Amino acid sequence: IRRLFGTSAVAAEEPITPPVEVKHTQLLINGKFVDSASGKTFPTLDPRTGEVIAHVAEGEAEDINRAVIAARKAFDEGPWPKMSPYKRSMILYRFADLIEKHNDEIAALETWDNGKPYQQAVSVEIPMLARLIRYYAGWADKIHGLTAQADGAHHVQVLHEPYGVAGQIIPWNFPLLMFAWKVGPALACGNTIVLKTAEQTPLSALYVARLALEAGLPPGVLNVVSGFGPTAGASLATHMDVDKLAFTGSTDTGKIVLELAARSNLKPVTLELGGKSPFIVCEDADVDKAVEMAHFALFFNQGQCCCAGSRTFVHEKVYDEFLEKSKARALRRVVGDPFKKGVEQGPQIDEEQFNKIMHYIRSGLDSGATLEAGGDRFGTKGYYIQPTVFSDVKDDMLIAKDEIFGPVQSILKFKDLDEVVRRANATRYGLAAGIFTNNLDTANTLTRALRQGTIWINCFDVFDAAIPFGGFKMSGQGREKGIHSLRNYLQVKAVVTPLKNPAWL
Ligand code: NAD
Repeated sequence: IRRLFGTSAVAAEEPITPPVEVKHTQLLINGKFVDSASGKTFPTLDPRTGEVIAHVAEGEAEDINRAVIAARKAFDEGPWPKMSPYKRSMILYRFADLIEKHNDEIAALETWDNGKPYQQAVSVEIPMLARLIRYYAGWADKIHGLTAQADGAHHVQVLHEPYGVAGQIIPWNFPLLMFAWKVGPALACGNTIVLKTAEQTPLSALYVARLALEAGLPPGVLNVVSGFGPTAGASLATHMDVDKLAFTGSTDTGKIVLELAARSNLKPVTLELGGKSPFIVCEDADVDKAVEMAHFALFFNQGQCCCAGSRTFVHEKVYDEFLEKSKARALRRVVGDPFKKGVEQGPQIDEEQFNKIMHYIRSGLDSGATLEAGGDRFGTKGYYIQPTVFSDVKDDMLIAKDEIFGPVQSILKFKDLDEVVRRANATRYGLAAGIFTNNLDTANTLTRALRQGTIWINCFDVFDAAIPFGGFKMSGQGREKGIHSLRNYLQVKAVVTPLKNPAWL
């Protein structure tokens, strides 16, 4: 395979030394970096080589409990929830300024621990992290309840109050963006937090949380615990003193977390889960633009996106041209050390994901799909995979049904809109969809018929702090970002008082 389908490579030379030092490897509890109660650590690995970057304190049940106690005290005794919203907002603005000031270092840590191209981290993700924190800083002093006259004899105030202690569990694919989606709205609303990072990528959140302290966040308001899912994650989901849980990760883990929350104290849960998003190229589409956008929709971030356009449906009239050009584009994709300029694709996160993706590639071959490009590992070290394209993909093949979470594009042919709507919706997921067309009627028909939380027309992966994101069906519950995320972190309380001698009675 390697001989037939090479890829445009930046040779796998000695890895570039990352331009940053690892400063924080302990848990952040009550405003201090501390060892885990057991003294245990776990290694976090460089996906470019599989070598150890650092040993990180491993949080378990006892550490989660310590962190929840700190968050509880910070909530119950203040000052965070009781502080003037304007002051809270100013601390968050300072936090965003510090993120911006340390943009390059944060981006380097993110690339080192995750494998994503440095250029992407430095120019898109870390600026977006600052943008998200600023967006919610702006909301902190604009949270309003309602009033009502009710039956005319009573005055009703509907207060919007912070929930209390928020437990947050995040994945490894966008460690800091997932951090911001969770932490930004929770803090703006006056909650305190215990956040568990993914075991593959613990480093950047610790660095950034330290900046939050420097910005003036009181101790105990934001606690960050590194550790594994079944231990630290499950302890957070079951903790009786956690008032609200927000989870991003796979659908299977989402089900576990929801059950754990239900079985403990019935804490409300928001879930951002997996996807198998259709990307639909209509017969009137500009093929060159559609090829580029479909390529981006799938291969961005090494294919490790929950909303990746992982089922590329192409109208039969433009199928052959689209396929040839998609194949050529994949072969031109630049794979290599993510710190190197011009590299579009770095390594997958770890050996487990690498093996899972290779298993899906074999399954594609075994089930009769045609391999057009890639199909093999790239280089000899680390977890790089060639940009891979399959054509002749059928709906019942595993590669068309499961979330692969890697650089594997599946191209499927369709004849008409009714057919593509039916096939695009025939999945347990409903996170996102892409539509490529110049026909307004087609766009309107598809946007109404598709059962997905986000629909991008002639674009893809456009994320802004103000745009809500979340899934239909088994892609999740609730929405994050935008005004919708504030609702996840606010309780509603009705306060009723009699009106004495109201003028109109
Ligand atoms: P994962 O479900 O394996 O892990 C996510 C987090 O859950 C990690 O912090 C992990 O330690 C923790 N966890 C694992 N088992 C747990 C348990 N029993 N109890 C509590 N916590 C547990 O997912 P992943 O592989 O890290 O991330 C990839 C998945 O995340 C993909 O399915 C992707 O689609 C999804 N994702 C969704 C969104 C979205 O917004 N919808 C965004 C990013 C990623």
